[in-house]
Amino acid sequence: MLLLSLLLLSLPQSGADTAPQTRWEFPEDQLEITLPKGFVLGAEQAPPGGMMLHRWATTIGAYRVDFSLVVVPRAQWGLQDPFDVMENLAYNRQAEPGGESFRFEEEMIFEGPFGAMPFASVATAAKWNVTERIGTEFFLGGLTADKGYSIRLQCQPAADKPTRAAILKFFREGVVYVGEVENPLWTKEEAFARWEKDRPRAFGGELKIVRTKHYIIFTNSSSDKLFAKKMEEYYDAIQATFPFPEVKGRKLMPVFLFRTGEEYFEYYATIAQISKQVAAKSKGHAWRDYYATYYDSPVDPVHIHEATHQIFSNRLKLGGGGSWFQEGVAEYMSTQPNERKGYARNAAKHAGQTPFQEFVLIPSLLQSAGKSATGEDMAQNHYLQAASIIDFARNSKFGKKKFDDFLQTMGSQRFADLDTIEAAMQRVYGIDLAGFEAEWVKYWD
Ligand SMILES: [Zn+2]
Repeated sequence: MLLLSLLLLSLPQSGADTAPQTRWEFPEDQLEITLPKGFVLGAEQAPPGGMMLHRWATTIGAYRVDFSLVVVPRAQWGLQDPFDVMENLAYNRQAEPGGESFRFEEEMIFEGPFGAMPFASVATAAKWNVTERIGTEFFLGGLTADKGYSIRLQCQPAADKPTRAAILKFFREGVVYVGEVENPLWTKEEAFARWEKDRPRAFGGELKIVRTKHYIIFTNSSSDKLFAKKMEEYYDAIQATFPFPEVKGRKLMPVFLFRTGEEYFEYYATIAQISKQVAAKSKGHAWRDYYATYYDSPVDPVHIHEATHQIFSNRLKLGGGGSWFQEGVAEYMSTQPNERKGYARNAAKHAGQTPFQEFVLIPSLLQSAGKSATGEDMAQNHYLQAASIIDFARNSKFGKKKFDDFLQTMGSQRFADLDTIEAAMQRVYGIDLAGFEAEWVKYWD
C-alpha cells in the first residue's frame, strides 16, 4: 500500500491548465528532487519498480538526459558512508557483461543537505562506442537514515561544458534530504550500543570513551591520553603521504584499546570467529571500520601500520588492488627508508624479489610465510618488497608524477587479479607489469 501511494505521489501531473511538474517528494526516504530550469520533462517512462523509486526522461537543449533514483538498504549492503554507495555502484557496473573496464573519470565531494551524513559522493564516467565517446554518465550517492540512494544520469551525446555545469548544478541544488543528520561524534547511545555489541566478555576496569579529532576510542587503559595523541600524529602522517580531504560530517573512526593482550585476543577471536591462539599472533588489526589493539608501546610500528589500513578502507576508500598494495602502503608508513633500501638493493642486485606477476596474486602476504632459499622469513621479505614498490612509485623519477593516479587506480582494482592490474599499469604508466618491475630494479640497483 505504501509503495502504491508513493507511486501515485510521484506520477507527473497532466492537464492543460497545470504547469509541468518540477518537484517530487519521496517521504519514506525523506528525499526531495527538484528539476531546475533548463531541464524539459519528456514523455513518461516505463514505471519504476523494485529498488528504483522514479525515473525521468528529460532534455537540456539538444541533449537527452535520462535519470533515475535508486535506493538500497544500508544494513544489508554495508553502507556506512556515501563513498560506499559509489563503490558499490562501480563494482556492480564492472560485474555487468562488457563492464570490466568501467571506471569513474572524475570523483568529487559535495557538502550540503544530501543525507544522514551531510555530503554526497559525485562521479562522472564516459560512455564509449569502441573509441567514440557517445555519452556522459553522472552519479550522485548519499545516505538516508536506513538506505543508500543514488541518482544515475545518462547524457547523450557526451555533455559539453554548459550541459555538464547544468547537471552538476542540479546535483547541488535539486537533491535535498529533509531527515535527521547523524552525529559525526557518535551519540552516547550509539557508542554504548557499539560497545555492548562487540565487547569482550572478560574485561577489567572501567570503560572510558575518548574522542579525538578523528577517532572515538573505547578503552580501559590508563594510558589512553598518550595513545590518543599518537593516533592523531599517525593520522596526520598518513594524510600527508597519501592525501585525502577532510570532509565535514564524517563519523569518527572507532578504535578499541585494551589494557591487556588477553582482552584484545578475546575481542579479536570473538569478532572474527577465529581461535584465540591465532588471534594471539597479532598485536593489533584493522578490519571493517575499526582498529583494535592493546596497550604496550604507543610508538610500536603496528599502530601506524594498522591506522594506514583503517584509513585506506574508511577514508581513501581504496581497499582493493591486492595484499601487495594494501600491505605496501601500510608497511611504507611503518618502516624506515633504510630498511626498504636495504632489502630492495639486495633483491634488485641478485634478482631476489618475487617476480611481480606472481607477487600481485598472493592473496595474503602475511600467510605467504615460509623460508626463502637463504633462510630468511618470506613474509617479512614480502612486506619489504611491497613497501619498496610503494617507495619506488612515490619517490622515483619514473613514478612520482603519476603517484596519485597509481594510488587511485590500483586501490580501486579487483583484489589480486592479474588482467585488471596489467590493464591498470597500462593506463597509469603505459607499460606492462614486467616493464614496471624492470624500472623498479633499475631504481634500486
Ligand atoms: Zn597489514
